[in-house]
Amino acid sequence: MSTQPSCIFCKIIAGQAEASFVHKDDKVTAFMDIQPLVRGHLLIVPNYHTPNLTELADEYAGHMFKVGRRLAQALRASGLRCDGVNLYLADGVTAGQSVFHTHLHVIPRHIKDGFRIHFPESYGQRPPRATLDEDAEIIRSAVETT
Ligand code: AMP
Ligand code: ZN
Repeated sequence: MSTQPSCIFCKIIAGQAEASFVHKDDKVTAFMDIQPLVRGHLLIVPNYHTPNLTELADEYAGHMFKVGRRLAQALRASGLRCDGVNLYLADGVTAGQSVFHTHLHVIPRHIKDGFRIHFPESYGQRPPRATLDEDAEIIRSAVETT
C-alpha cells in the first residue's frame, strides 16, 4: 500500500505519529480529530495514501462510508452528547481540505454545539426547473465520459 512520508495521516497509520484510535481494519483507520469541532469529532482515513476522492478506490470509498455510519451509531449510544451527526468530506482546497490524505469527518451534533454551516445569501431562491434539468443533463453527460 502506498504511503507518503510527509503525510501526517500516513504517519498515524504507520504508528509514527500519535493518535487516539477508535477503529482499525484492513481498509480504514479511525481516530479522534486533534482539533475537534465538537467533542467526539473523529476522522476515518483509508489505510493507503490517496490525496483526493477521485483517486480513492471504490471499495475503500464504500467501506469508509460504512464505517462512518457504524461510528455515527456508536456516537449516539456513547454517552457523549450526540443528538445528530454530520458526515463531512472536504475534497480540494476550495472545499476546505487541509490534509491531502482523503478523510471522512464524523461530527456529533447537539443543540448548543456552536457549529454552523454558513449558507450563501442566494440560498432559498429556487432556480427554474429548466435550469435544474439543464444542470442534470450536464452532469449525466460527464458521468458517461469520466
Ligand atoms: P480537512 O480540513 O477537511 O482537510 O480536515 C483535516 C482535519 O485533520 C482537521 O479537522 C484537523 O484538525 C485534523 N488533523 C490535522 N492533523 C491531525 C492529527 N495529527 N491528528 C488528528 N487530526 C488531525
Ligand atoms: Zn497519507
